[in-house]
Amino acid sequence: MPAELPHARPAVDQLPAYRPGKGAAQAEAEHGITNAIKLASNENPDPPLDSILAAVAATAAGANRYADHRATAVRERIGTWLDVDPRSVTVGAGSVGLLQQLFLTFVDPGDEVVYPWRSFEVYPVYTRLMAGREVTTPLTADHAFDLDALAAAITPTTRMVLLATPNNPTGTALRTSELRELLQGVSPRTVVVIDEAYREFVDPALGDPVRELVPDFPNVVVTRTFSKAHGLAGIRVGYAIGHPDVIASIDKTLFPFAVNGLAQAAALAAIDAIDEIQVRVDRILAERSRVVSALMADGWQLPDAQANFVYLPLGERTDAIYLELEKRGVVTRPFSNEGIRVTIGSEEQNTRFLTTLAEVARPA
Ligand SMILES: *Cc1c(COP(=O)(O)O)cnc(C)c1O
Repeated sequence: MPAELPHARPAVDQLPAYRPGKGAAQAEAEHGITNAIKLASNENPDPPLDSILAAVAATAAGANRYADHRATAVRERIGTWLDVDPRSVTVGAGSVGLLQQLFLTFVDPGDEVVYPWRSFEVYPVYTRLMAGREVTTPLTADHAFDLDALAAAITPTTRMVLLATPNNPTGTALRTSELRELLQGVSPRTVVVIDEAYREFVDPALGDPVRELVPDFPNVVVTRTFSKAHGLAGIRVGYAIGHPDVIASIDKTLFPFAVNGLAQAAALAAIDAIDEIQVRVDRILAERSRVVSALMADGWQLPDAQANFVYLPLGERTDAIYLELEKRGVVTRPFSNEGIRVTIGSEEQNTRFLTTLAEVARPA
């Protein structure tokens, strides 16, 4: 060991590492089992559509060249698809890439960042990385966002608010009417990020923030992704919609060529195949209903599930139940002493989860 090493910034030193969901192979190795299934990262159970794979393969032949830094074609295609001005669209390396850009754009050391907790794990990581000040609000008894608590926590000095709807990991979603009411009390200088990574799985009756909120609130930025519904988690492409001037600021923080050519080709092909993707989403929604009904019939209580996963608030039984499931090859995502999040997989995988859960635990 050298006597001295370079010191990381204190903000980095104190940072917990991002913990991705455990893979099936790792669980198999740890428990000496085979046939484990991963329901831990809210991935799509189906591989990408053939048309997307073909577009990616064709683009790979040109990988000796840098891709278009701005992903212009993807912005324009998203603009047409969602009927918004392409200047109000940006594209990033997954929506977590865009979230990082939002922090780089708006949060200075000491700036206040407000979000409900528990929510998406990268929010505290990015806040601490920027040496921002975390202000969290509790969830309600139903594991949903407490809008009164949020309204009280957001002040004129708040720089950014982060709202995942549906929330990860609890799965509950906000109505755009509720968001509108909240936004009416928020300073136009405060950036409000609406993280819609699971947009495609939400009951459409809850509304559409891009249509209903972005035109009226220039401080709102909506982030979305091709990772979940479109089955492209491994290729890293997401997008954000907001006021063109806000988008232009965010664009300055994109590291060069962050959205690679394969990701751009995949995004374009995914939009071209949106009807086929909808069929797959509908299948996941039908499976979600089946899983929720089966769990409720067994006596489990769970919050409203608006994404491609269910959340079981198991409290202090969480770690033990998680481990028993994993030993039997069903890998879920535990939040110690709070609950487990279980991705909706294929029909066979979901049935395996349900039968394994019934083997290892009964509702309290
Ligand atoms: C999965 C997820 C994302 C992000 O994903 P990308 O793969 O980076 O697009 C963003 N927000 C939430 C709340 C998520 O659960």
